[in-house]
Amino acid sequence: MEPGALLVEGLEVVYGRSVRALRGVSLDVPGNGVVAVLGANGAGKSTLLRAVSGTLSLHRGTIAGGSIRYDGARLGGRDPAAIVRAGVVQVPEGRRVFAHLTVAENLRAGTLGRRGRAAGIRAEHDRVLDLFPVLAERREQRAGLLSGGEQQMLAIGRALMAAPRLLLLDEPSLGLAPRMVGRIAGVIREIAARGTAVLLVEQNATIALDLAEKAYVLDVGEVRLAGASADLARTDEVRRLYLGEPVESEGTPAPVRTAPRRALGRWTG
Ligand code: ATP
Repeated sequence: MEPGALLVEGLEVVYGRSVRALRGVSLDVPGNGVVAVLGANGAGKSTLLRAVSGTLSLHRGTIAGGSIRYDGARLGGRDPAAIVRAGVVQVPEGRRVFAHLTVAENLRAGTLGRRGRAAGIRAEHDRVLDLFPVLAERREQRAGLLSGGEQQMLAIGRALMAAPRLLLLDEPSLGLAPRMVGRIAGVIREIAARGTAVLLVEQNATIALDLAEKAYVLDVGEVRLAGASADLARTDEVRRLYLGEPVESEGTPAPVRTAPRRALGRWTG
């Protein structure tokens, strides 16, 4: 297994007694770069991230089968703090920041439970402020007063304070203005360039396929398609359902293709 790789095999998740949210989901995320998971509402995207970050039990969910391995070690069944210490950190959906705390206090909260010396934490702090200059300007401001996009940056910045090797991002573009979506995309690209692998869950397929080298499409708890982003972006299914493009089979002229279309097989797990 490649160092720093996440390997999910045959993952089954249930909520309560009867809601089967994931069925036989397998995916792998290399130790660097961006991998995207696309899917409509309720497809199981957040569930997948919760299973990896060990937070399923907070939502009355349990892993009912399969395995999750990170960097060669089993993650399934470990508690969230141990998973953070292993280098896997989640930014939950909805940019949850501590509204009554300042920006600086929110960032400090990201280091709780982190191993390592004060000097390491200061270096991380400087790197985060370098990545998000707006957070440096607003350091003493209460987080609740930031705009939606700035709160998303703070939520990502707080996660980075734990020095992740793998960052799990749940719909970072949700509800943001297009200009802010572009800025967040730039930040994700920069995080990956600085050596942190990213597992990006997104409904905005345009952004996700642009950022990721590889993508998976989840549909009602199962992996429906998987492959290189460029190949997925050429499939009729992804173009029609996730990119909102007209496709030939619907009687509309197809856009000019610049590269030959490659058939993408169904994922068989
Ligand atoms: P969204 O973008 O709407 O969050 P998603 O792809 O992230 O969608 P999940 O939130 O993972 O999807 O939900 C997958 C399935 O599990 C859905 O059928 C959902 O109703 C169900 N589910 C999610 N959380 C719970 C929960 N705490 N209790 C019971 N069922 C849940």
